[in-house]
Amino acid sequence: MLARVVVVGAGYAGVMAANRLAAAGRSQLRVTMVNPRPDFVERVRLHEHAAGVSSAVRPLSGLLHRDVGLRVATVDSIAERSVQLDDGGALDFDYLVYAVGSTVGRGLPGAGHAWGVADLDGAEALRTRLRCLSAGASVVVIGGGLTGIETSAEIARRYPALRVELVAPSVAAWLPASSRSTVERKLVAAGVVLRTGLRAVAVRADGVETDAGRLASDCTVWAGSFDVPELARHSGLPVASDGRLRTDEALVSVGNRRIVGVGDAVAPPRQVGAHLRMSCQAALPMGAHGADTVLALVRGERPAPLSIGMVGQGISLGRRDGFAQATDRDDTPRDFALSGRVAAVVKEWVCRLTVGSMRFPRAYRWLSGPTSNESRGPGESREPESAPAAAVSR
Ligand SMILES: Cc1cc2nc3c(=O)[nH]c(=O)nc-3n(C[C@H](O)[C@H](O)[C@H](O)COP(=O)(O)OP(=O)(O)OC[C@H]3O[C@@H](n4cnc5c(N)ncnc54)[C@H](O)[C@@H]3O)c2cc1C
Repeated sequence: MLARVVVVGAGYAGVMAANRLAAAGRSQLRVTMVNPRPDFVERVRLHEHAAGVSSAVRPLSGLLHRDVGLRVATVDSIAERSVQLDDGGALDFDYLVYAVGSTVGRGLPGAGHAWGVADLDGAEALRTRLRCLSAGASVVVIGGGLTGIETSAEIARRYPALRVELVAPSVAAWLPASSRSTVERKLVAAGVVLRTGLRAVAVRADGVETDAGRLASDCTVWAGSFDVPELARHSGLPVASDGRLRTDEALVSVGNRRIVGVGDAVAPPRQVGAHLRMSCQAALPMGAHGADTVLALVRGERPAPLSIGMVGQGISLGRRDGFAQATDRDDTPRDFALSGRVAAVVKEWVCRLTVGSMRFPRAYRWLSGPTSNESRGPGESREPESAPAAAVSR
């Protein structure tokens, strides 16, 4: 009899997992993808989508393997062997891939007044808002991480008549000093006013409160850290403190051996996941590894532990400028970086390759993870072996 596999969430990790399962296990599996919309949202392009320079939406029908069935619905809860859908239906499973990704984090008081780029609805609303603003209006982007940097640069380039300000204690704080100053210089060249050294404490309808006073804003964009959906917690599955599904080293849920977790919504143990940021870069190989884990479980074999190496951080700064920082496999910056037009081309090429790799799931390969000598974080060995890795957004 065919094993029924339900994949919840058609993001990078879920699509890669579903396609790899369908391609590898045609005679053994029946794969059903459940996703709230019939489209794939290229989240890595949501800042472009918001600025109106490209679309981040493409039909899932062009991306999913022909043997993957698509059910357009949201999973409301997960039981031992079935999921409950928001359209009143239910699906039984033998194995479930949990791939619900991440969403906008709303840590700040008044964050409801801010627009966001972490999901499609937010990016659509921001796109509409930006089009309504008149010359001289101010846009305040909160967050000095990758999302804040890319979003502020994209808006400033696309709307040179707007005043775009980036508010954050620092910009790209994790990069080496020389890389950081290059990124800051490029943001300024793009037309972004840097308000570093400030911490936003609240968002109002017409401005942002910071620890050093108030900034007027006609459009505030929240680009802080990501949160994850509450589905695993609400379903009674073991989760980390931030709600990510807790798994073992092979990505199997520690609460249900029939559930395998992949992507941003998952907290693997530190020994295999401490260096993995919430990122498409990690989500794709996690999706592929999760598929291999399901196949091993179906065949009664022992699944292999996760092993993923990071390669770098590509930052787009508008369509014609960018910065790419090479990293070691544990995600620490190396002594090599690219900037300018060539970095923008590399970033664009990586975005395209990402989508392309989901179409050839069996051929997909990735770098193995850091060895214990390379592993990040002095003091990590003080953590209990099974402690989940902390979440770090892209
Ligand atoms: C503006 C922006 C730029 C980025 N740039 C980069 C970059 O350059 N490089 C990089 O590596 N990363 C980047 N990221 C991060 C990257 O997009 C995410 O880490 C990645 O999308 C995570 O993939 P995922 O498959 O885990 O989840 P997602 O892509 O978030 O997909 C999850 C899917 O699950 C669905 N879902 C959620 N709940 C349910 C439910 N209950 N039932 C059914 N379906 C559900 C969602 O609708 C979605 O389709 C960027 C993110 C943003 C916002």
